[in-house]
Amino acid sequence: MQDNARVRLREDQQLRERASKVIPGGMYGHQSVQGLPASYPQFMARGDGARVWDVDGNEYIDLMCSYGPVLLGHHHPRVEEAVAKQAALADAQNTPSARMVELAETFTSRVEHADWAMFCKNGTDATTTCVSIARAATGRRKVLVAKGAYHGSAPWCTPRIAGVTAEDRVNLIQYRYNDASSAEAAAEEAGDDLAAVMVSPIRHDLGVDLEIPDPDFATRLRRLCDRTGAALILDDVRCGLRLNNGGSWEYLGVQPDLSAWSKAIANGYALGAVLGTDALQEAARAIYVTGSFWFASVPMAASLATLQVVEEEDIVARMLKMGSALRDGMAAQAKAHGLEVCFSGPPQMPFMTFGADQNFAMAGVFSDAAMRGGVWLHPRHNWFVSGAMTEADVEQALQTTDAAFAAVAAAQ
Ligand code: PMP
Repeated sequence: MQDNARVRLREDQQLRERASKVIPGGMYGHQSVQGLPASYPQFMARGDGARVWDVDGNEYIDLMCSYGPVLLGHHHPRVEEAVAKQAALADAQNTPSARMVELAETFTSRVEHADWAMFCKNGTDATTTCVSIARAATGRRKVLVAKGAYHGSAPWCTPRIAGVTAEDRVNLIQYRYNDASSAEAAAEEAGDDLAAVMVSPIRHDLGVDLEIPDPDFATRLRRLCDRTGAALILDDVRCGLRLNNGGSWEYLGVQPDLSAWSKAIANGYALGAVLGTDALQEAARAIYVTGSFWFASVPMAASLATLQVVEEEDIVARMLKMGSALRDGMAAQAKAHGLEVCFSGPPQMPFMTFGADQNFAMAGVFSDAAMRGGVWLHPRHNWFVSGAMTEADVEQALQTTDAAFAAVAAAQ
């Protein structure tokens, strides 16, 4: 660890040492900071609005939003009020509360393709449930997924092969995002055994520039599913509620049969959702999926409040405005420092790569300097702008990114 990080992250270092003795690898999964610059703290203390604080009391402008769940900002008063009200009644009970019906009604009225809703905890629960419903409905096995896409951490989709058997993956066939012909060829390969085509609203694979879907690609996936009877599954786990108030492909006029949601829908509280069409309701009823905490009422109350705020305060427009200001400001800074950068993705979920950046070395210098200057972003994963970002936050973030670009230029 660099000396300045050792001083700045004293508590954090002590927790890491303790964690290394009782947590496999010291930490695991996407929130492990191993592989990130030494300036990244591993342990957080609290959040408020667009700011977070680590256990050593260092403050950051949050451009990762817990990798997506924080939509309205940390500790949003209306969400916290709904949470406190529900928690005072009950969270986990023998049967669900009325919140579940209210939430299913809200989702089905908001999301065009949705006639019904089921709830779970995580994005992986939601994508896996979608696959099970598609298989139950069709009696078929094969599922098309885009190469490099992330749909969760269950054995059928986790990106690492440790602990996974070939049988877990035998029914997956890959296609290339934004390449409808490759999906059609994959469907040919599946023959009469095609159960589903899974796709994310944008291409947001780790470490590559984000891609907006070509409308022709989306339309042809829909047609492919109509022709074969397979279910079109939209994995809206990461984009849901960040791009618009309904489903993320509504602007394209392409409706999925099933959609998987989680992350932002309860502003940080643990909730996932599966939405589907009437045609798949019987299959959704036939499968057995459940979990001890899937019916908990507090996250559902949080979600109801989140959905209300998203609509009443036009949060998507706010994130778009702040994200655009950040992106435009950073693009101008990069240019002034003589650096070639590529911004990709919607401004609410931006990503930036440096041209000719071997092994993300420049991104590493940049994110390290940003972190030390109090802006939390990621060198290889897309960022997230929350609805709590203010003009002042953007301005302050830009002061730090200017210094971070200077550090990259100096390192050349
Ligand atoms: N699908 C997508 C597109 C995701 O981004 C994620 C999480 N990064 C998942 C599924 C899995 O969600 P979870 O981590 O909540 O299981």
